[in-house]
Amino acid sequence: MIVVLVMAATLWGIGAAMNTPRRARWTMIGVLFAGVLAIQFILPDGHPLREGTGSDPRLWLLLGGLGALVFAYRKGLMALRARTNPVSIDPPAQAPGTFAEVELERYARHIVLREIGGPGQKALKTAKILVIGAGGLGSPVLLYLAAAGVGTIGVIDDDSVENTNLQRQVVHTDTRIGTPKVFSAETAIKAQNPFVTVRPYHRRLTADIVQDLFAEYDIVLDGTDNSDTRYLVNATCVALGKPLVAAALTQFEGQISVYDPANDAPCYACVFPKAPDPALAPSCAEAGVLGPLPGVVGAMMAVETVKLITGAGAPLHGQMLIYDALYGESRKIALKRDPNCSVCGTL
Ligand SMILES: [Zn+2]
Repeated sequence: MIVVLVMAATLWGIGAAMNTPRRARWTMIGVLFAGVLAIQFILPDGHPLREGTGSDPRLWLLLGGLGALVFAYRKGLMALRARTNPVSIDPPAQAPGTFAEVELERYARHIVLREIGGPGQKALKTAKILVIGAGGLGSPVLLYLAAAGVGTIGVIDDDSVENTNLQRQVVHTDTRIGTPKVFSAETAIKAQNPFVTVRPYHRRLTADIVQDLFAEYDIVLDGTDNSDTRYLVNATCVALGKPLVAAALTQFEGQISVYDPANDAPCYACVFPKAPDPALAPSCAEAGVLGPLPGVVGAMMAVETVKLITGAGAPLHGQMLIYDALYGESRKIALKRDPNCSVCGTL
């Protein structure tokens, strides 16, 4: 029996020296234990191998039972600890606009950028951004805004996660099918960055709430594929003087611009005075859409938003960036304000 115990200790020692994970080392010892038990039960009485590994199998069974008991006790203790001490750490309360040490470390790669720096990161932290739609474009937008350290992120959507969404809507997961998208997104955002405040609105964006809702935010991002919503969002942003970062997708192509008549850029209605005929503008469900495409264009929306907040570079004011995924091409076209625009013409 001593020989076997020495073998087990040697196995453990070699494992430790080679830095193998504890689980692998325990597996090796389990295999050794099973081998010894097999020898004890299969070989006849008096066989030298059986004698050499201890003559009585009951001793080994007792040892195995004790081991299992200790293992079960440890597991139980760990489960209890996890329940009383949840792993999800709530960030310590901070004065608005100030950073905990761990946040400074988190945003270090932003803070070293001359165009962002400490003041830019502070501006991100105090910014309040509203995202319309937690779908294909909303997914990367929400994750990247959270990762970038945008302090308050609102998200409005009345849908629930469906299996057909998961090909491109990376903020959601298979296990959250059936969950309202805004709550699924909230879970993902909090997991990405616990220092962000998320405000989920599980409802449709309607004319009766839009003014009050937008008034609470600095910038609005629109990634919906519903033209009624697009015009409502645009008119409200114009009325309140809020910049609107809007993008749209077709099968393999995406377009993005920053609509902001308060800063002499056109509004959405200047460029698209009338909604396209539904027959000419099929939805993603009808026409299909390349899975990574909303990732590319949604990430561009997050980039434009970070630029607007921090003042870095020049946002896509009066310009539309068009990305053609099928041929790997992008181009920019100039957009002009329409002095007779029914929405912003009188500003
Ligand atoms: Zn306009």
